[in-house]
Amino acid sequence: TSGKPEYRRVLLKISGEALMGEREYGLDSATVQRIAEEVRTVHEMGVELCLVIGGGNIFRGLSGAAQGMDRSTADYMGMLATVINSLALQNAIEALGVPTRVQSAIPMSAVSEPYIRRRAIRHMEKGRVVIFAAGTGNPFFTTDTAAALRASEMNCSALFKGTKVDGVYDADPVKVPEAKRYDRLGYLEVLSRDLGVMDHSAISLARENRIPVLVFSIAKPGAFAEVLCGEGRYTIVSD
Ligand code: UDP
Repeated sequence: TSGKPEYRRVLLKISGEALMGEREYGLDSATVQRIAEEVRTVHEMGVELCLVIGGGNIFRGLSGAAQGMDRSTADYMGMLATVINSLALQNAIEALGVPTRVQSAIPMSAVSEPYIRRRAIRHMEKGRVVIFAAGTGNPFFTTDTAAALRASEMNCSALFKGTKVDGVYDADPVKVPEAKRYDRLGYLEVLSRDLGVMDHSAISLARENRIPVLVFSIAKPGAFAEVLCGEGRYTIVSD
């Protein structure tokens, strides 16, 4: 893209599943590498950037609970999964020469910094990409909510949600070929029609703090930078 970024500081949320590639579980190194390249491109555009990574490719609290585990314990295991993903992405991004810091909501001082809001902002101002690990640090939440929370705390001008498809549709485009993609949606529309962009607490938080949510395909090379410049295909959720 030859465009100009429309946002100065953004948070990118990637689900754990986006790191699986064609695998059924865990991490695909070629996919992790490619996402790291997307991050580098945007970093080189001078945009301040932070990331929240999910853990669904490794462990989900709900699946643990469904098998009889205590829900909170299962959720803590899910949060630890996001730490694994965060370290993998940190490794790949740094290999491309972009400085990063991982900050974990569950302190884990041997492998990451603890989450310290003002320090995270300082890192971004210095051109470091900050990766927020362990979600919110609380069970019963999701990494989508963590993304909306950190985007609010970091005063991000937008939250980018990288998914498998290029926006929000009125039905699952994988199953329903004639599904219609929205260019633009209101927060309240997403909530009342339960459109499944992100969970309700994440959308509510973004709405209260007036942070636009841009849903785009992280599977499409170059899309992150394009959407940041207002080009390409995506859905924007705002007022
Ligand atoms: N999780 C949690 N609190 C948080 C964030 C995540 O308990 O603030 C747990 C929860 O069990 C969740 C798992 O971590 O299922 C992985 O996160 P998520 O499902 O949001 O990952 P994604 O779907 O984005 O891969």
